[in-house]
Amino acid sequence: MTQPRIAFIGAGNMAASLIGGLRAEGVPADAIRASDPGADKRDAMSREHRIEAFAENRDAVAGADIVVLAVKPQVMQEVCRALAEHLEPQTLVVSIAAGISCESLQRWLGASRPIVRCMPNTPSLLRQGVSGLFANPQVSAAQRQQAERLLSAVGLALWLDDENLIDAVTAVSGSGPAYFFLMIEAMTAAGEALGLPRQTAEQLSRHTALGAARMACESEVDAAELRRRVTSPNGTTEAAIKAFQAGGFESLVQQALNAAARRSVELA
Ligand code: NAD
Repeated sequence: MTQPRIAFIGAGNMAASLIGGLRAEGVPADAIRASDPGADKRDAMSREHRIEAFAENRDAVAGADIVVLAVKPQVMQEVCRALAEHLEPQTLVVSIAAGISCESLQRWLGASRPIVRCMPNTPSLLRQGVSGLFANPQVSAAQRQQAERLLSAVGLALWLDDENLIDAVTAVSGSGPAYFFLMIEAMTAAGEALGLPRQTAEQLSRHTALGAARMACESEVDAAELRRRVTSPNGTTEAAIKAFQAGGFESLVQQALNAAARRSVELA
């Protein structure tokens, strides 16, 4: 595959992590451009990633095969309308903005274009993210591969065959890091209440989350089996799991994710 030329519109946190990931995977600096109104953002791009960064979006997209829309949802309409006349009809547009549908992008970009819509999450900043991707029918097989390679540079990329499922992805993995942070907070408080020094309780909780996540990701068996293996009959873990279940843990998680998915629909 020849190296596509990629332009990032907006050089904030997500763009920086994607560009860092691409550069670490060996994508040459001259295949990547960015634009941002912030001089500090442009300087950081040149300094840290050796890529050319422009103040005007139209300068970044000239000759690009892929245009990544990495601005906040509130400015997306204005950015798309101004860019429309500067894009080639076959340029792949990749949007990482939360809550902006392919149909809205299509309307603002003023033509029927190949669009991939993605929902990444914050651990992408550490290249440990996970994203859901949806491609509209205009996206070619080669462009699907290009989009997958782009998002794979910061973690795992999973395709969805229905755009509406982006709301479920938002509920599970988009907002998901905060659920695990909440669990760490709660375990830290509970450990402290059991007499541990706060810092010790916090480190025990954080590192337990890290170790459990790595076991869940690297194991060939599912989470339920991993849990069974560490839950001896009448043991301490079983006592805790029974308390969770008596409190309706699974249904609480379902309610929380339903609330996130509903909110995602409302915001779109
Ligand atoms: P950010 O604020 O760090 O970056 C946005 C950048 O866009 C800023 O540098 C800003 O100067 C620039 N910008 C503003 N107006 C512009 C314009 N007219 N033209 C070009 N650039 C302009 O935000 P972020 O966290 O990187 O988020 C970017 C997008 O990614 C958002 O749409 C967000 O919904 C989406 N997203 C972020 C995360 C996340 O974890 N941060 C997760 C999923 C989706």
